[in-house]
Amino acid sequence: MTNTAYALALHGGAGARPGRDYSREIAHMRSLVLAGGEMLARGADALTVAVETVAELEASGLYVAGRGASPNTDGDYELDACVMEAASGLAGAVAALQGFESPVRAALAVLKTTPHVLLAGEGARAFAQAQRLAPILDAAAWFTRAGRDESNRAPSTASGLSHGTVGCVVCDAAGQLAAATSTGGVFGKRPGRVGDSPIIGAGGWADQTAAVSCTGQGEFFLRTAAAAQLAFRMRFGGQDLQTAAQGVLDEICAMGGEGGLIAISADGDITLPFASAGMKRAALFTDGTVISEAF
Ligand code: ASP
Repeated sequence: MTNTAYALALHGGAGARPGRDYSREIAHMRSLVLAGGEMLARGADALTVAVETVAELEASGLYVAGRGASPNTDGDYELDACVMEAASGLAGAVAALQGFESPVRAALAVLKTTPHVLLAGEGARAFAQAQRLAPILDAAAWFTRAGRDESNRAPSTASGLSHGTVGCVVCDAAGQLAAATSTGGVFGKRPGRVGDSPIIGAGGWADQTAAVSCTGQGEFFLRTAAAAQLAFRMRFGGQDLQTAAQGVLDEICAMGGEGGLIAISADGDITLPFASAGMKRAALFTDGTVISEAF
């Protein structure tokens, strides 16, 4: 194996269920980190790889995001996503988006074509339509069982916020960082509920120090500014990547929350900690090692 300057990690959500067979997800995640590595080897930038990887996770229907998302209590699918790029300092996000196949591509379009960071609800829908993003023509046929399948839920938790999300963090060959996160949100959510996933600084973050994508009970990640907190612990607190990530999760656990995160530093170090029953996750490290696991 040869050392590379690039690396990436992805997650398919915290809260894997003990006893369930995740071999399909593990094989899928492995194929995606390898594909991402090939893109990076050809010189692709971090944002492109993060978005393409999350778009594949969304389209697979295997995770509680994109095609696998779960409906709210009205039976509607309101999806959230964010992207952020360290090189430009730009970010884009959509919240409670209905009717489009890829929330992460809508978030990318917000970053690329507007002066805004976050579009929500009807405004997000109108924007996605104007951008000619792929619409969902028949929701009943499009969404898979992942979001309705009881076995995809994280085991019941103190606050009852069972959940699922996907994300990707990338360090490209130029040492630039990007992050992308996409979710169907928590199970049984109220209409209009928005979690951490589309909120820059909570569910996703990328600066020159670290790129982060979170998963778990979004209300806790919102109240701790989890993703940005990790980078700030490093930047202003002098902590290393692992210590900073663990510090964020410890704070969330102390509040009674659960979840996990993936983070990558500008020298390609990766950490994938979780404080939940498991976390579907995969990574390609700078020494060429690949991992893909659910627990
Ligand atoms: N954080 C997501 C949310 O609260 C759910 C998850 O990560 O599983 O919407």
